[in-house]
Amino acid sequence: MSAILLGWNPQRWNWADYDEWVAQVRRHGTRRDTWSVGRHVNIAAGSDAWLLLQGKNRGLIGRAIVRSEPYKGRHYSDPEKTANYVEIDWLSLLPIPDRIPPVVLNAEAPGVRWDHVYGSGKSVPVESEAAVHALWERFGPQHEARDPSELPPGLFPEGAVRTIVVNRYERDPRARAACVERWGLACVACGLDFASVYGELGKGFIHVHHLTPVSQLGPDYQVDPIADLRPLCPNCHAMVHTQDPPIPPDELAARIRASRTSVGPRRTVPNRTSPSTCPDCGRPGVPIMYGEPGPEMIAAAEEGRIAIGGCVIYDGRPTWTCSQGHDWRVDESART
Ligand SMILES: [Zn+2]
Ligand SMILES: [Zn+2]
Ligand SMILES: [Zn+2]
Repeated sequence: MSAILLGWNPQRWNWADYDEWVAQVRRHGTRRDTWSVGRHVNIAAGSDAWLLLQGKNRGLIGRAIVRSEPYKGRHYSDPEKTANYVEIDWLSLLPIPDRIPPVVLNAEAPGVRWDHVYGSGKSVPVESEAAVHALWERFGPQHEARDPSELPPGLFPEGAVRTIVVNRYERDPRARAACVERWGLACVACGLDFASVYGELGKGFIHVHHLTPVSQLGPDYQVDPIADLRPLCPNCHAMVHTQDPPIPPDELAARIRASRTSVGPRRTVPNRTSPSTCPDCGRPGVPIMYGEPGPEMIAAAEEGRIAIGGCVIYDGRPTWTCSQGHDWRVDESART
């Protein structure tokens, strides 16, 4: 397998309906195109082709497969000249704000001289091909998580059902791990912990939500998994994305609390799934359980779902605690 780089400089080539192409490629999986490859003639059909956005906002932005040998055609900007072209099939294109910036490219595939690519058709060093694939897999196309929010039709008004586009930071396994390490595996909005409901099956399952829309991030943005990411269950994740920009998770948590205290049937929700955030440090809390701990309680405490409060039960005892050891009391009487 071989691979080439294609260049696109928006200052020199106005691809006015680029966003349309992004959407079509996403919908249909592919779209045929023709791209110039400058003077390069040694390009094999079947090669990978990577589109590099040039000019002031550089970054990797598209993936294609070359479908033809290079052929001569009239130059795209100067009818007096000829240029070499190849037929390509786009396989994925990123919206411009989601391009993978040079800082990531240089770190993940240092064998490619990303800053020295100007024309099209230059080949990717063989030893770097795998690294380019890997970085595209990690930072590239947004994957749509259809499962969590595609609700059965008929239950909700038209338009209420939407697809969450999970951005690349939400998919990045390292960022995800750091987020979960810090914030835990329970949903920060509703408190749902998959392992406690689904047992073994739910272990380790949680969505990770990126607080800032990708379109608002600068080109050299680096994710801070602790400041920028929060664990959310798929329901809460779908709910925060019903608005653009998304609803902040603490605001959603407040809405859940408000509706739980006011809506009748919700009173059956057990206390342990009610959310509570530490009033001192804002970290998510776990309920404190009092009484002689049985095996179930000990297991729950070991998994960090509850804290054991001991056998002394007194009025005004704290009902929640956070990972920093702050204790507080939430009046549960309104809920039960
Ligand atoms: Zn939730
Ligand atoms: Zn999200
Ligand atoms: Zn705290």
